[in-house]
Amino acid sequence: MYPRVLINLEKFKRNVEAVKHMMDAHGIEVYGVTKVFCAHPVLAEIYVEAGLEAVADSRIRNIMKLEELEIKKVLLRIPMQTEVEEVIRFSDISLNSEISTIRLLDREAVRQGKVHKVILMIDLGDLREGFYDEDELSEAAEEIQSMKGIEILGIGTNLTCFGAVIPTLEHMERMLEIKEIWRNESE
Ligand SMILES: *Cc1c(COP(=O)(O)O)cnc(C)c1O
Repeated sequence: MYPRVLINLEKFKRNVEAVKHMMDAHGIEVYGVTKVFCAHPVLAEIYVEAGLEAVADSRIRNIMKLEELEIKKVLLRIPMQTEVEEVIRFSDISLNSEISTIRLLDREAVRQGKVHKVILMIDLGDLREGFYDEDELSEAAEEIQSMKGIEILGIGTNLTCFGAVIPTLEHMERMLEIKEIWRNESE
């Protein structure tokens, strides 16, 4: 028999609902990641039924399979410049760390009559994705303010991932600091 994974849909659903319930208690929105099952629509549908905020996948090819689902779609990685057209068409939000790519996303979003949201990634040592340089980050944020097709949804970071950096209080405080600096600058 060819190796395969059997998924108990009842248990899967109960687990998703349990996570959603725990996060609701803290006012945290949950994005259901679909890349671990290649965005199989039956499983993604369970995320929708459970009332998650969005589905998220690192591959636009997977997100394209979920076009019919009535839920926000997130590209969970920095887009390739060659897939900008599909990113705008099939996803609502993407992670970004390069202004040159964001400029292309803006141009394409305007062409398609959409506003695409970006989460600006900040590298805190994990070396997967994100701006390293804070001046570069602020300059990018400022340029995005004047774009018609792009809106900044927030900031993000990647930990316990590529570089296996373990998140500490300091990492979280650093993110809060950056948020506060921006808040003060935009007032
Ligand atoms: C999964 C993931 C990636 C890598 O995606 P691949 O499809 O494995 O190339 C990059 N960034 C983030 C945040 C991810 O979750």
